[in-house]
Amino acid sequence: MTSGTPLNLYNTLTRTKEPFVPLDAENVRMYVCGPTVYDFAHIGNARPVIVFDLLFRLLRHTYGANHVTYVRNITDVDDKINARAARDFPALPLNEAIRRVTEKTGQQYAADVKALGTLEPTYQPRATDFVLPRPDGKPDMVSLIERLIANGHAYAANGEVLFDVKSMPDYGQLSGRNLEDNLAGARIAVDAHKKNPADFVLWKQSSAEEPGWESPWGRGRPGWHIECSAMSAAYLGEVFDIHGGGLDLIFPHHENEIAQSRCAHGTHEMARVWMHNGFLQVEGQKMSKSLGNFVTINDLLETGTMGGHAWHGDVLRLAMLMTHYREPIDFSVKRLEEAETKLRDWQRAARGAELANDDAPDASVIAELADDLNFHRASVVLDAIAKKANRDDARASHCLAATLSFLGFSLDSLLTSDDGWEEPPHIATAIENRLAALNARDFAKADTIRNELSEQGISLMDYKDPETGERKTKWESKR
Ligand code: AMP
Ligand code: ZN
Repeated sequence: MTSGTPLNLYNTLTRTKEPFVPLDAENVRMYVCGPTVYDFAHIGNARPVIVFDLLFRLLRHTYGANHVTYVRNITDVDDKINARAARDFPALPLNEAIRRVTEKTGQQYAADVKALGTLEPTYQPRATDFVLPRPDGKPDMVSLIERLIANGHAYAANGEVLFDVKSMPDYGQLSGRNLEDNLAGARIAVDAHKKNPADFVLWKQSSAEEPGWESPWGRGRPGWHIECSAMSAAYLGEVFDIHGGGLDLIFPHHENEIAQSRCAHGTHEMARVWMHNGFLQVEGQKMSKSLGNFVTINDLLETGTMGGHAWHGDVLRLAMLMTHYREPIDFSVKRLEEAETKLRDWQRAARGAELANDDAPDASVIAELADDLNFHRASVVLDAIAKKANRDDARASHCLAATLSFLGFSLDSLLTSDDGWEEPPHIATAIENRLAALNARDFAKADTIRNELSEQGISLMDYKDPETGERKTKWESKR
């Protein structure tokens, strides 16, 4: 461990905030469900990416950068992808068309999330690489399904393989749904081949127009949930520390991942801590294409979809983190403006600091984040450090820079050349002349210099040096 701050994380499974104790402090393991790559990712998809990036950074800080393994998968087999492939590349064979779609959207996704200041996860496996048994022997979906059938937890019916929920007495722990609840909502007629209406698909048949793999149950494709059971086991083992995703994934996706993994491996848990980010709305409404408020990360980074101009990825990141990750967020232009102002203030206060690789972030910021990622309280600490830095406290300025950089923000993205720490020489000269005039009690001359700078958009603030008591002047661009 490189830092002594104990982490406390809210666990959806127990519905309490608990001290985090890794299974192996030498290798802390986290899995987060990634995107289905059929189109540009929307700003809601950015939330788990940013939230779990913050957690990844905190874990790396706590246990050491080489002692954390973070896996975020890419779902590249899905009916929405098939539909997009048929629409965009009607002349190509299906597999080729699908590959084109997922390659393009996968690259867009990588570029978008990079712009949001996120570190790359340790592994980003693609589902299609884990359908069939692999030469390297890592777990795969077909083998997991075979094992579930052999263990009496799954059965083939009507061309499908289904998970038998009745075979797992404590099914439903994560979502708190019991089998009776699930029965009440199920449409029996549609599911006549199921033993139990709550049974879910592990494998389904593919028509000639659908992507498929040859399996013991014919040509078909996997259900969605089994992907994550295979890819998490492949990189993190049968039981690991943290599993994350958005709130919408608790049921059925995560519930079913748990059922599959525990029943395949015979374990009493899949992951220790289950973490879920709250949902994001746009300007007070659920995001949807029909409402016309569907905003992609790319729109925000590159076009004027919200607020009439593009926003820096750092601003999107801060706008996202300003609300606690478990609360709902209303993403709005007002929020983006607030984030931009705040980050610019921090960057100004930190300008000039020169960072070395091992500069540590502020301990109080770490302590706030260690309390279930309380970014809001961390930002109050940052404000206080910035205030000190603005009083010419070089240590505070340096600490602020190190902390911003730890949090994934660049140090100058919102600074214009006016803000640059290399002070334009004419300003320095003017300030010196004005201070000399003040000391000589030539107030008229001092005012003239102030007014000249003011016409160039530069305002001056006088203050006393806290140590020497000497009069000093700071300047700021009044944009
Ligand atoms: P999907 O590509 O729909 O599977 O979603 C990828 C990730 O984004 C999952 O963790 C979802 O829970 C999350 N997600 C999707 N929509 C939203 C939203 N509006 N707010 C927050 N998270 C979301
Ligand atoms: Zn998943």
